[in-house]
This record gives sequence, C-alpha cells and structure tokens, in this order.
Amino acid sequence: MRVGFGYDSHVFEAGKPLVLGGVAIPGCDGLKAHSDGDVLIHAVIDALFGAAALGDIGSHFPDSDERWRGADSARLLSQTVDELARRGFRVGNLDATVICERPRLRPHVDAIRGRLAALLRVDASRVSVKGKTNEGMDAVGAGAGIVAHAAVLLEECNCGIM
Ligand code: MG
Repeated sequence: MRVGFGYDSHVFEAGKPLVLGGVAIPGCDGLKAHSDGDVLIHAVIDALFGAAALGDIGSHFPDSDERWRGADSARLLSQTVDELARRGFRVGNLDATVICERPRLRPHVDAIRGRLAALLRVDASRVSVKGKTNEGMDAVGAGAGIVAHAAVLLEECNCGIM
C-alpha cells in the first residue's frame, strides 16, 4: 500500500462557474486557473501521483500547455487513474478537506463524493469529503479563495495492462 497527500489553492474569479470535485456548485464565483479551477480534484490528483512517487499534476498536465486551457479536471483525474492502473495501482480510499468561507459545502458533499467515487472507480463508501471554514482567519478566511487537502491510499494490484 502507498499513502499520498495533495494540496491546492485557487482564488475566486468573478463570472466563472464553480466546480468542486467534478460537481457544478451554483450561486458562487468560480476559481481562477488555467483549467476549470477544480481545486479539490487538483489536490486529489497530486495525492494520487504523490502516492505513486510519479511527480505532480503540473508535471503531467502543465499549465503552459494549451491542451489543458479550460480543461475539465474530471477528465484529468480519470486519465490519472488510468495511468496508475497501467502501473498496477488502484485507489483504496480518499479523505479530503475543503476550506472556504463560501460556499457552504455540506449540501453538495454527497454529490461530490459520488462523482469522485465514479472517477476513482471505487464505491462512495471509500470517499470522504469534509467542508470547513477558516474561522475568518487569513486570506481564505477573508473569502479570497478555496483550499483543498487530500489524502489517498493506493493499493498495488494486478489491474495493470503493462
Ligand atoms: Mg490547481
């Protein structure tokens, strides 16, 4: 088994749709980024590559590459899971924390868990997503953006095609 940890942060950008964990969240500004700005999926991808010691999201999907402009991060996560499968890894579980003053995450947590589970190809019982505020502290507490942390377990399996 391998453990991995990922972190990401993005500032809000007015007028852009917000996507968290592959789920559209209405009523809140989106996040500034080269891609769709899905900060939660970016943290999950970093945790997955970290667990396999395969670098990070930037080395696999560089933001200097026009292919990833406005990219659907869910597709990047799916490609990440494919790459890990080729190397003989499958996801054991995910535990993630999203930190922001807005939006309130709780109404969306089950939808996000379901979407991430589908992308990770595991049962939703193996996916945990927790929302917190920063209690008004620092830039995140002032509402500048959203931070995400993710921990994953990878299991070595015979699922690879290499
Ligand atoms: Mg990012």
